[in-house]
Order: sequence, then C-alpha cells, then structure tokens
Amino acid sequence: MRLEGKVALISGGARGMGAVEAKLFAEEGAKVVIGDILEEEGRKVETEIRAAGGEAQFVKLDVTREEDWSRAVEASVSHFGKLNVLVNNAGISGSQWGNDLTQEAWDAIMEVNATGVYLGTKAALPEMRKAGGGSIINISSQMGIVGSDATHPAYNASKGAVRTFTKSIAIQYAKDNIRCNSVHPGPIDTPMADAIFDDPQKLESVRSKVPMGRIGKPEEVATGVLYLASNESSYVTGAELVIDGGWIAQ
Ligand code: NAD
Repeated sequence: MRLEGKVALISGGARGMGAVEAKLFAEEGAKVVIGDILEEEGRKVETEIRAAGGEAQFVKLDVTREEDWSRAVEASVSHFGKLNVLVNNAGISGSQWGNDLTQEAWDAIMEVNATGVYLGTKAALPEMRKAGGGSIINISSQMGIVGSDATHPAYNASKGAVRTFTKSIAIQYAKDNIRCNSVHPGPIDTPMADAIFDDPQKLESVRSKVPMGRIGKPEEVATGVLYLASNESSYVTGAELVIDGGWIAQ
C-alpha cells in the first residue's frame, strides 16, 4: 500500500475532492483525519472509511480559525500518534458574489483559500518536524496560474497566493525533510461546481475551454494528490501538478 504507516490530515474532507482523497488515502493504508465545517457529511465519510476497514477520525475544523487548526493537529497526534501528510484542500469558489469587487467578497475568499492554507501549514510544521519529515499538498487551481472571464478575481488571487506560498515553504523546510507542492485542478465535477455545471449553457462554456473536451472527475485529482503524499514523490518539492485536461497549455 502506497501510504502504509502514514497519518494524513485533509481539510475540507467532508465532500467533493477532499472526501475522495480521504477514502483513497485510507484504501492505501493511511490513517486519515477529516477536517471540515460540515459535521454531518464529515462523519459520513468517517463511517464509510471505517466500514471499509480503514482508520479515520472526523474533527470540526474551520480553516480560518487558528485554534481549530491546533485542535485538528492535536487530534491527529492523540488518535494516530503523529502527522505525516497535510492536504490543504478546503476552499470556496466565491460564486455567490459574481464579479462583485466588494472588500467583503475579497476578504471572505482570501480568508478561506489563502489564510486557511497558511494557518494549516503553520500548525502542521512542528509535528512534521517531530515525525522526521512530511508532505504538504496545497490545492490551488488552474485559476491560480491564469486569469478568467468568469471567476471571481479574488479566487484567482487566493489561488495564486497558495501557488507561491507553497514554493517558499518548500525551500525553507527542505532541510527538515518536509516537502510542499501545489495541485492545480481544472474544472472538476464536485458540489462546488454544481451551480455552474447544472446550467447547460455554463457547462458548455466551461467544457469548450478544455482541450480534452470534458469536465474532470475528483478521482483524477485524488490520484495526483496521492502521488505527492507518498514516498514515490520523495524528490518532488515546490512543484506544481496541473490536472486540468490541458486548460493552461493553450
Ligand atoms: P467542495 O465545495 O465540494 O468541497 C470543499 C470543502 O471545503 C467542503 O467540504 C466545504 O465544507 C469545505 N470548506 C469550505 N470552507 C471551509 C472552512 N472555512 N473550513 C473548513 N472547511 C471548509 O469543493 P471541491 O471542488 O471539492 O474543492 C476542493 C478544493 O479544490 C478547493 O480548494 C477548490 O477551490 C479547489 N478546486 C476546485 C475546482 C473545481 O472545479 N471543483 C477546480 C480547481 C480547484
């Protein structure tokens, strides 16, 4: 198994890509801590993993709150003894604000998508040091590399912040054997994207921008995240793994 003996904390693990990653990690032998604001959905993922013979623990985590991060990292250690992998996956699209450039929209998007990644990284680093190293995987977006005619500009800014934050963490903690990489999914079929993909016109507009001509599946991102979490990527740090059907290649 590719994650045998590892303990992984996944933020936003209650649904969407985070839930698929939690289940895949458990299948590959990891003990998984699922952190999310959605308690019912998070407990459901925990139950499903346990029913399949895996080990999982849900913790209530709002990624914008430093004290919640301390509790989530403590839960990894108290339940499973250590922390080896952090997936900073929780995020919001900000679609409810349209292209409204209010500071309220900017602050809310930056707080979850960028500050949340900073706080998670800060909380996990000491435990990873104690464990002799670790892997941090920050879920950015293709929208953290290019702009867009439809996405909230603060979403691009937040995901761009994650992209370069990742590189400095990679450089500054390489000596501690802690790797840090970013993942850049294109349009993926998850609850976050329902509002867009449920509208046939919007779905076609997005689909037409993908050279591969289709929306991606959460599993197609999860396998990339699994690679970065595993020892197979032992010499990979500060890298960007783009999983977008060719969106930014054009
Ligand atoms: P999703 O909405 O299905 O899942 C996101 C999860 O994050 C949810 O469980 C939600 O409750 C959680 N979350 C939101 N705010 C939180 C907070 N403050 N604290 C803790 N948890 C919180 O979305 P998804 O598509 O699975 O997105 C996962 C990640 O992938 C996000 O960072 C998103 O920006 C990114 N992404 C998504 C797409 C896409 O097309 N779906 C594309 C590129 C990047």
